[in-house]
Amino acid sequence: ETQKPLSGDELVALTKKHSLYEWSAQSKVDPIPVARSKGIHFWTPEGKRFVDFNSQLMSVNIGHGDERVVRAIQDQVAKLAYANPFMATEPRARLGAKLAEITPGDIDVFFFTNAGAEANENAVKLARQFTGRHKILARYRSYHGATAGAISLTGDPRRWAAEPGMAGVVHVLDPYHGIQRGWDDTATALANLEETIQLEGPQTIAGFILETVTGTNGILVPPDGYLQGVRDLCTKYGILMICDEVMAGFGRTGEWFAVDHWKVVPDLLTMAKGLTASYVPLGAVGMRRHIAEHFKDKVFYGGLTYNSHPVGCAAALATIGVYQEDRLIERARSTGAVMKQLLAQLAAKHPSVGAARSIGLFGLVELVRSRKTLEPMAPFNGTSEEMQALGRFFRQEGLYTMVRWNTFFTNPPLVITEAQLREAFEIIDRGLEITDRAVRD
Ligand code: PLP
Repeated sequence: ETQKPLSGDELVALTKKHSLYEWSAQSKVDPIPVARSKGIHFWTPEGKRFVDFNSQLMSVNIGHGDERVVRAIQDQVAKLAYANPFMATEPRARLGAKLAEITPGDIDVFFFTNAGAEANENAVKLARQFTGRHKILARYRSYHGATAGAISLTGDPRRWAAEPGMAGVVHVLDPYHGIQRGWDDTATALANLEETIQLEGPQTIAGFILETVTGTNGILVPPDGYLQGVRDLCTKYGILMICDEVMAGFGRTGEWFAVDHWKVVPDLLTMAKGLTASYVPLGAVGMRRHIAEHFKDKVFYGGLTYNSHPVGCAAALATIGVYQEDRLIERARSTGAVMKQLLAQLAAKHPSVGAARSIGLFGLVELVRSRKTLEPMAPFNGTSEEMQALGRFFRQEGLYTMVRWNTFFTNPPLVITEAQLREAFEIIDRGLEITDRAVRD
């Protein structure tokens, strides 16, 4: 018996009644009902179309509904939906080899997880077991996932409710201090990091985890020299450099991995999201050869029922095939150059734009009430009338993106055309009249 599809209102009501929405007071959530998606668009059951200007959760990098990935998933489910992690399967075999080709340096062994948080959990395990040390440095302006360990690594306010959390996590300041204070120069940022390492005792620190380009906390592109400096400090003190590329990886920044912009090879590299373009869940932590060697004779203490899930691995292989066949990394770079111009035009025209940052198709706008004081349009960890009105405007105009604090994101699927990009920016351009009206000077 086929069931009549639910209307948008019905499915919103039923999901709210029987499921919990994340990071929200339930009475405040106002989900968009979604029935189908294709390319850069998705539709409500009633057929209202949205431009997906955040690639859902900065993750559907190849765009929606790519038949090559859909078919690979279907074929794998039909042939071998599941095999436990002690088995060897073809998708696992091929995916490891493929990732070894595209990840930087001598990273060529992978542990496959369900998602980003678990990739980071297992990176911590690997770092602790490899070094025999226990502390992990992480940065304040960061998000590393919501599981017990990953939320402790997370520096942003989503951590607060999970405290005291995992023992041994030490947070360090970022080179960026918010729109009003701005950026440290590289030498100062690195000197501060080294001071923390000395004060904590380098022999107690297993790893330093950082988002190569910070995502939700502001598309913070590291100043030149910073990552190389972090690499050098980690090498000097025997600390593993763990780059979290869950959001920044897989072409988002215009390179396979964001570290590639600075030619830095971390010891551990975590990924998820773009790995399968989120068609099915899969994460991974990649490790350099010498770290993998450590576990030749020593047990790796870690495991998951869905480690190396055949469907996830098959989806990832097909997704990587799409990036390569359609040259999406190069495309993100060239379309990203256009987006940079469009962001600069917004900044030049709208007094409420305090800063606009991007790398590839990873972009964000920070809104302010004053160009002189750079007072944010919403407080840290808060919102405001104007930011909410901007969010409502985007939604009404059929532009989906994330509006957070005083910022909003421009993270379209990498397949977006220049014309589609310009159309989306035309909506943003009109929306910013709302926030411009709140500017004092
Ligand atoms: N790390 C980063 C940088 C992320 O952006 C995210 C998710 O947004 C995660 C880790 C957690 O990944 P997941 O939600 O797949 O567990």
